[in-house]
Amino acid sequence: MAVISLEGMKFYAYHGYYPEERIIGGEYLVDVHISTNTHQAAVEDELAATINYETVYLIVGAEMRKSSKLLEQVILRIILGLKYQFSNMSSLEVKVTKLNPPMEGEVASSSLSEDESFADRCARCGRGNICYGDETCWCNAKELFSKTQENVKEQFGGQCLCKNCLGFFGAS
Ligand SMILES: [Zn+2]
Ligand SMILES: [Zn+2]
Repeated sequence: MAVISLEGMKFYAYHGYYPEERIIGGEYLVDVHISTNTHQAAVEDELAATINYETVYLIVGAEMRKSSKLLEQVILRIILGLKYQFSNMSSLEVKVTKLNPPMEGEVASSSLSEDESFADRCARCGRGNICYGDETCWCNAKELFSKTQENVKEQFGGQCLCKNCLGFFGAS
């Protein structure tokens, strides 16, 4: 397992509960840590299996540019964006720090972080499986399921299956 980190990504953004914060804006730092099994990428020598730093930065930047009242909302969107982009994260942590928050006393920064873990076991073969547990995984995808996927899901009590096993059923 490897941890891929991007720390101190700096943005000028317009988040905040008070309208003046959303007009004046402020400086923010974002840290992202992603745990992933780089073994598969190393063996297959396949770029698609790795986490690309540039892509992480672009996703974070896009979400920081959308003004939000709450940092919770910003972090949630960053996490969702990363899940849609990368299917091989076993856990991730996103931290957003606001520099010099508007307070009565002098405060260097305030921050909020959220971490999620996705390591699970495949309901069919028992091998390690990554399930994001929301619409970014086939087992919770909102779009219409193929009949095969519906059947597979029913057969394994709604539990998630690994890609290998999904392929075995002709659904992937
Ligand atoms: Zn499996
Ligand atoms: Zn799943």
